[in-house]
Amino acid sequence: MAIRGFLSHIDLNVSDLSASVPFYAALLERLGFERTAPADPERAAWRLIDDRGAHFEIEVRRPRGTPSARRHTRNDPGIDHLAFHADSRADVDAIFEHLLDHGVAVDEPPRGYDYSPGYYAVGFDDPDGIRLEVVHDPTTNPER
Ligand SMILES: [Zn+2]
Repeated sequence: MAIRGFLSHIDLNVSDLSASVPFYAALLERLGFERTAPADPERAAWRLIDDRGAHFEIEVRRPRGTPSARRHTRNDPGIDHLAFHADSRADVDAIFEHLLDHGVAVDEPPRGYDYSPGYYAVGFDDPDGIRLEVVHDPTTNPER
């Protein structure tokens, strides 16, 4: 059995589509994702297609049930954070500037971390408090 792609999809519940759709559009389209045609007005999705044709999709949508009123925190069980590859430090810096241009509060501006040699990342929250990261790690994503 061979796996195609790394993941098929991640679906994120959001409290306010009018905040999250522009946020994810700005982030994901800058990262090279393409928006897919909405099948449902309560959802929006973006995809990447790898060299072998496998799709990876991120969808934001209204929760199926009644959400709690509280904001997500990375201290709760569940997702701590999601990290996206960047091809270079310059790309991490470019994403940072792009996020600022779109009014995103970036509380961890680009800097190096000692997780592995050359690890360089920017960190910020989505509108519901889900932690996101864009990282260039030359040990897992060699610069081309
Ligand atoms: Zn991380």
